[in-house]
This record gives sequence, structure tokens and C-alpha cells, in this order.
Amino acid sequence: MLRLENLSCGYGPVVAVEDVSFDLPAHSSLALLGPNGAGKTSTIMAIMGHTTIHGGRILFNDQDITRLPPVKRVDLGIALVPEGRRLFTDLTVEENLTVGGYRLSVQRDKINRQRVYDLFPRLSDRRKQTAGSMSGGEQQMLAMGRALMTEPKLLLIDELSLGLMPKMVDLCFDALAALKQEGVTILLVEQNTARALDFAENVCVMTSGSLAFSGTSKQAKADENLFDVFISAAHE
Ligand code: ATP
Repeated sequence: MLRLENLSCGYGPVVAVEDVSFDLPAHSSLALLGPNGAGKTSTIMAIMGHTTIHGGRILFNDQDITRLPPVKRVDLGIALVPEGRRLFTDLTVEENLTVGGYRLSVQRDKINRQRVYDLFPRLSDRRKQTAGSMSGGEQQMLAMGRALMTEPKLLLIDELSLGLMPKMVDLCFDALAALKQEGVTILLVEQNTARALDFAENVCVMTSGSLAFSGTSKQAKADENLFDVFISAAHE
């Protein structure tokens, strides 16, 4: 479904990601891991169309989307749950979902909204509550819900568990597992390595803007060198 071919990208002249290639088959999941500053967020942002492309290509279902505007990528079925959630904190749950589905017909909006509430009953109970007054876990659910309003085939999630209580992390990963079961393809950037390896069947590890490892989660768990990658990067 998604293919990165020798992708290099960054911010204006700054290069954050260099020569990264990987494949993400439909209905599969991939965890993108690595230490701080490795280029994980930049890779996700490039897939969504928010970075400067310095080289390489991004293909989505065999279509070259490397230079497609972000909104067109959403129309193709790509959605992002950004790091820090980026909710409209003064708007209610319902209003945030409306923003997510602003390009939908009234009928699709209604169907997708119900799907979000079925997946996250806590959001259903808090429809009239402002996003900013909810707990971190509830806000993360809303950020996921807003992305789901666009009916994504590929869901990009940046730091699902960051700063959340363990119980909320469980609820968010349960929802992600349900989406995976429904056939949504998932690319997950995650600091909680153990959790990510348990969830996703495939793994890419980045360091200093490049790929250090690409393989299955099983292979990653068995690779002792990967542990060193994280430790040495932490001491740089
Ligand atoms: P973290 O886990 O800390 O978010 P990351 O692996 O997601 O790290 P990125 O956020 O992609 O890494 O950062 C990769 C590099 O790009 C870093 O050197 C960072 O300073 C740089 N960078 C990120 N955002 C910008 C920006 N808006 N402008 C310029 N450089 C940036």
C-alpha cells in the first residue's frame, strides 16, 4: 500500500531524513522506532505532505504522491494522528469531529461519527465537553477519532502513548487493535518500544535520519545490536 523509495526530506534546506526505503503492505502494521531526533516524525510528516522533499519517492497504492498536497492525500485515504494531538482545545468533542469530517456529506459524517463513538464510548459520554478539559487519554482518543472521520485506509500515528496513564495506553492500543482487525493499515511511531513491538508485525528503526534496521518484530526482538542503537544514541 505504502512504499518509500530512497526518501530524503527535511525542512527547507535542513535534511532530517536521508535515503529511507520501506514497504507497508495493505492490512499490515509497522512500528517506526528510534531515539529522539532520529527522523521518525519527519518521515510521517513527509508521507502526509508536510516536509520539503530532497529526493526519492512516496507511493500509495502504486500512485506517486511525493508532491501531492496534503488534502489530496487525505482524499486518497491517509490520515494522521499528530504528536501532541493538536486538538482544538476550546471546541467540544462533537465540534472536533466535525472538523475532521468537514469534507464529508452529512450522511457519511453521521455514519463515521457513530463509528468513532462505538470505538470510544468515553467520547460519546463527553460529546459536549471541550477537548481541553479532558484527560490526556481522552484527548488522544479524540485525536484518533478526528482522524477516523476521514475513513482512512492508512493511519499514521505519532506517539500514541506519550504521557498517558497505563490504563489509557491500554484503551488506545485496544482501539488500534480493533482498527487493525477491520483492515486499517497502521504506521506507528512510538517511544514505548515493547508495546510497539507487541502491536506491529513489522519494524523499522531509525537513527540520525537513516534506517538502522528493517524487519519483522520477531527479528527485532532477537537482535541484540538494536538495543545498543538506542543506548549509544542516548549518550550522543
Ligand atoms: P522525537 O522522538 O524527539 O520526536 P524524531 O525521531 O521524531 O524525534 P524528528 O522530529 O523527525 O525526529 O527530527 C529529526 C530532525 O529534524 C532533528 O534533527 C530535528 O531537530 C529536525 N527538525 C524537526 N522538525 C524541524 C523543523 N520544523 N525545522 C527544522 N528542523 C526540524
